[in-house]
Amino acid sequence: MATAQRPSAKVSVRPKAVATTKQKLERLGLISAHDLILHLPLRYEDETEIMPIATLRPGRSAQIEATVIRSDASYQPRRQLTAVVQDDTGEIGLRWLTFYPNQQQQMQVGRRWRIRGEVRGGMHGYEIIHPKVTVADSVLPAALTPVYPTTEGLSQPSLRKAIGQALEKVELNDTLEPELVKRLGLQSFGEAIRTLHAPTPDMDALALIEHTHPSWLRIKFDELLAQQLSLAAARDARRSLRSKSLKANPKPDSLCARLLKSLPFSLTPAQQRVASEISADLEREFPMYRLLQGDVGSGKTIVAALAALQAIDAGVQVALMAPTEILAEQHFQKLKMWCEPLGIEVCWLTGSITLKARKIANAAISSGSARLVVGTQALIQETVEFFDLGLVIVDEQHRFGVAQRLSLSKKGEEISGDDWIPHQLTMSATPIPRTLAMTFYADLEVSSIDTLPPGRTPVVTKLISNERRDEVLGHVAQACATGQQVYWVCPLVQESESLDLQTAVDTHLALTEALPDYTVGLVHGQLPTAEKAAVMKAFREAHINVLVSTTVIEVGVDVPNASLMVIEHAERFGLAQLHQLRGRVGRGVAKSVCVLLFQTPLSMLARQRLRAMYETQDGFEIAQRDLDLRGPGELLGSKQSGVTLLRFADLAADGGLVVAARQAAIELRATAPHIVERHLARWMRGREDFLRS
Ligand code: ADP
Ligand code: MG
Repeated sequence: MATAQRPSAKVSVRPKAVATTKQKLERLGLISAHDLILHLPLRYEDETEIMPIATLRPGRSAQIEATVIRSDASYQPRRQLTAVVQDDTGEIGLRWLTFYPNQQQQMQVGRRWRIRGEVRGGMHGYEIIHPKVTVADSVLPAALTPVYPTTEGLSQPSLRKAIGQALEKVELNDTLEPELVKRLGLQSFGEAIRTLHAPTPDMDALALIEHTHPSWLRIKFDELLAQQLSLAAARDARRSLRSKSLKANPKPDSLCARLLKSLPFSLTPAQQRVASEISADLEREFPMYRLLQGDVGSGKTIVAALAALQAIDAGVQVALMAPTEILAEQHFQKLKMWCEPLGIEVCWLTGSITLKARKIANAAISSGSARLVVGTQALIQETVEFFDLGLVIVDEQHRFGVAQRLSLSKKGEEISGDDWIPHQLTMSATPIPRTLAMTFYADLEVSSIDTLPPGRTPVVTKLISNERRDEVLGHVAQACATGQQVYWVCPLVQESESLDLQTAVDTHLALTEALPDYTVGLVHGQLPTAEKAAVMKAFREAHINVLVSTTVIEVGVDVPNASLMVIEHAERFGLAQLHQLRGRVGRGVAKSVCVLLFQTPLSMLARQRLRAMYETQDGFEIAQRDLDLRGPGELLGSKQSGVTLLRFADLAADGGLVVAARQAAIELRATAPHIVERHLARWMRGREDFLRS
């Protein structure tokens, strides 16, 4: 591996032009020849053929040779240059919205040109806007032309030249043994790199363009392998950290045993399995980093409570953090109900409690008298000092930003003057497809609750156009009449929080008028915490029949008697969000209904989302469709996720490669550390830091 040649700032004897190209390359992160060879084309342009005008289609790029038969420069109502060109098969329009005199000159009637650009369906037939015009009848390139990601002022030809020089300088060694490459049916690294930079005419152009060519597969595999190797290394590094071993108390009167005895239900086999996975992790002397996934309503809270009690029984403090006050409050109530009969004090800490209450809470936390602390992000604030924090539980972790998560694990790692750090359990109700879990969470252990508790009735989903709103009001009245409760979720108004609020307030008014016999409540993000809690309490205790809300109920709220949910402007919500919302009903014995009210006309994407909601309730299926519709970066709610660091591989399309890369990573780590090192050196220079919070 050659070392990167960092340019020296002092020496500048070279001609100025060379230096600027170099600087521009640096702006793209292209410093060494190795960087350049891994700077692969964004796409390819097919300039190998002249197309007959009659075969052109809108939305496709075209290269024609044709003669100007009309041309017109106009300055009113706006300045533009138009022309019509013709070949033996037909004619097509050209248009420039700004133009120079020499372009007007070029378009003199009778002159023949080679013309390239994208075909559009215009008002008077097809046209090409701002076409590239070059000399006709010159030699055509024999192969696809690569187009590279670039930066301002750096032209494609100069990038191509720099990359071409790098290709001559660098030996394109394979990091992997030929035996493995062959077994996986992959191309050699050298062949792949050469092909991608300089395809030859015989190569499958479509496969190159669509990233399915064997050369792309090899590069994607290498990238995914590097990611797997580096995540595994991160996991290993954390195993060298120390945590307190929190042994499960085997006695029949342990806190866990007593909690289980007090429950009105018994754990499902899936819950038992994940609970024992977590329990075993807690006993180890290095920190647990485990993700507990389970669809909405799968019963994660009780599993978390058992983990907390094992830790408390073993003599440490536990913190549980939720992304919203409502959710934290609900955990607090539930844990209090479960833990206080066992003699465990549960402490409540959020950003909005009074200064006095906060002082008391802080004192209880730092003296260690509070064994279990429940709260929001306030828990990670500087002022909170734990006495002996041994386990941190984070609910709905995907809702926290990366920065918050970082700060939590930092806190974890700084905490306690001792030389051990807390175990971490994160929970998520956004199931993610397996291939995504393998990459994004490859450094976490994952436990999945894959079945719902018994006695749930599937939710019936209805798609109803907004014009039939009155009908929906009828359903609401009916549900109330039978003692059922109703959620009415107001639309997201992306642009403005105050509009969001306004719609909620208006809807609340309208429903109050429409349902004079029932109590309609309102909860939204800007309500003071105490009021929010009071409304939620009233709803839980069935003093409120219909709860109008913004999406604050999106995560975690658990009111089994609510059996009807109406989501207004469902077309504005994302798939995962809709699934989360729908998961709020269907928690009790009553038959539940989720009404998705939508406003026509629907965009294609919205239509597909609503159809997915209608067709399936399986969280994993929904997640897969979401991945297909939106791509992984957005699905994980974070542009900074490890996923977006993949430059070439596409998790939605390359699931098979992810599995192969993971397998190879395990193998290589066990048998060939020198290859691991070599491969990481090529692919991960300077990137490890970003990979994981
Ligand atoms: P989530 O995984 O979405 O956080 P919760 O922990 O809120 O789900 O559980 C949903 C509901 O199911 C709660 O009312 C909980 O008490 C109940 N529940 C959990 N486990 C079981 C079980 N094994 N049998 C019956 N009900 C259960
Ligand atoms: Mg939950």
